[in-house]
Amino acid sequence: QDTNTTAEPLTAKSVLSRVFGYSEFRTGQEAVIQHVVQGRDALVLLPTGGGKSLCYQIPGLVREGTAIVVSPLISLMQDQVEQLREAGVKAAFLNSSLDVDKQHQIIADLQAGKFELLYVSPERLLQHQFQQLLNATQVALFAVDEAHCVSHWGHDFRHDYRALGIIKQRFPHIPVIGLTATADAATQADILLQLELNDPFVFKGSFDRPNIRYRVMSKYKAFDQVVDYVKQQDGSGIIYCNSRAKVDDLSAKLHRLGMRCEAYHAGKDPDEREYVQRRFLNDQIDIVVATVAFGMGINKSNVRYVVHHDVPRSIESYYQETGRAGRDGLDSEALLLFDEKDAARVRQWIEQGDKTERNTIELQKFAAMESFAEAQTCRRQVLLNYFSEYSDTACGNCDICLDPPKLIDGLVLAQKVLSCILRLEQQAATQHVIDVLRGKSLKRIMEAGHQHLSTYGIGKEHADSYWHNIINQLIHKGLIRVDLTANAALRLTEAARPVLKSDTEVKLAVPRLEFKPDKKVSKA
Ligand code: ADP
Ligand code: ZN
Repeated sequence: QDTNTTAEPLTAKSVLSRVFGYSEFRTGQEAVIQHVVQGRDALVLLPTGGGKSLCYQIPGLVREGTAIVVSPLISLMQDQVEQLREAGVKAAFLNSSLDVDKQHQIIADLQAGKFELLYVSPERLLQHQFQQLLNATQVALFAVDEAHCVSHWGHDFRHDYRALGIIKQRFPHIPVIGLTATADAATQADILLQLELNDPFVFKGSFDRPNIRYRVMSKYKAFDQVVDYVKQQDGSGIIYCNSRAKVDDLSAKLHRLGMRCEAYHAGKDPDEREYVQRRFLNDQIDIVVATVAFGMGINKSNVRYVVHHDVPRSIESYYQETGRAGRDGLDSEALLLFDEKDAARVRQWIEQGDKTERNTIELQKFAAMESFAEAQTCRRQVLLNYFSEYSDTACGNCDICLDPPKLIDGLVLAQKVLSCILRLEQQAATQHVIDVLRGKSLKRIMEAGHQHLSTYGIGKEHADSYWHNIINQLIHKGLIRVDLTANAALRLTEAARPVLKSDTEVKLAVPRLEFKPDKKVSKA
């Protein structure tokens, strides 16, 4: 084993330079490759463009046999295979886009051991026949690209992905590597579970996209705001709306104003979608107004801005969608138009469903999205914090950093909240804490006897929304955490102790509950 550890990276490294023409691994690649080459399972979480492909391609070349790569989109497979062939790698794909003769040819070549990498759709992999074929083939490894598609809770669930646990069951001794650009903890746990990875090596890179400037505007006249904004931009942009009807409507209106834009959603036929995508890619149009259907596989590097006309359902989706801006590394912007009423509607919509576990998680995910939108502290910190990437420095490239809210001495406010949480024995969720602070005479409070707590009514002077905002700030500052395993109960962290003892100061932002639309669009 030990001799292997030193010998293998050399092989991987020589493949890196000889086949791919790169002299250095990027952070994480080498460790992942080394583990997979040695037969370990792995999970790689890296943002788009982070270099995930090499993490399975190199082990595929180093290990004996054919690497089987599961990929959800035909266009992705084609791109990958083309690039590999250009680099002189024996690679192919097998999916329903090929005619039957061609499929037979590829199967024969696979049996003859002619491929180093073979890309297949999940449907194909699950076919009994194909599995028998694999039994008779030397398989180097299985790679599951876009692995978040296994997760119901992710933003891109694919039914066929759900069954991919079968790989590990049928081929327990062949390494399986999952790859995704999703960093959400719940999705990550789900991937590990669904793929049944065995003691996997998990690598998670930084999800920061420093060239994207995050901005949130209060939404008051969405159409005018979008028009104003778009007029001040150069280059390409995507505008996301949450329904097909809105997409069609907004796109038509922008069109009438002479803007070069097209609509894209799943209600359009595939040819039309393909056409829109191609025109966008070739800069024949500037704007695509789209639903989330405009997503995976869109590989345009010079998208300068992404506007969210409506608030997304989760930070994951928001991150993925805004992540389509600035792939070329140049300054780009993500603008969210946020309206508390939209948010309430989404919440209601989620709550209308059954009280299933899934619903609860969706609500929590949406609550995190809302707290991003309402944040009074660096947005990038909130975003990265959600992905468990903690940073103690503000980014300098978001609306909050560039136009900081007014700070006040928040020690007493913080103490009110923290002591109320303590009095409630750290068992209560945000709204209940606020109800007690404000001294409401709700049945729920009376039944629990919470009207007798010393903190009952000590926050009367402020509205619910004010306290929500303050609590969110305290969460962002790391004084409180939300325990998702206990009905989102608020808990104090170690950092809360000195605050309660008045041993430290707490600067809080005056909640900007009704901030004015931001007229100045800062452009360098
Ligand atoms: P992802 O799949 O994570 O979105 P890719 O695997 O497509 O990212 O890689 C993004 C780009 O970075 C590709 O052009 C790839 O060739 C390049 N790349 C990957 N690894 C390295 C490396 N070690 N050195 C230089 N470039 C790399
Ligand atoms: Zn910032």
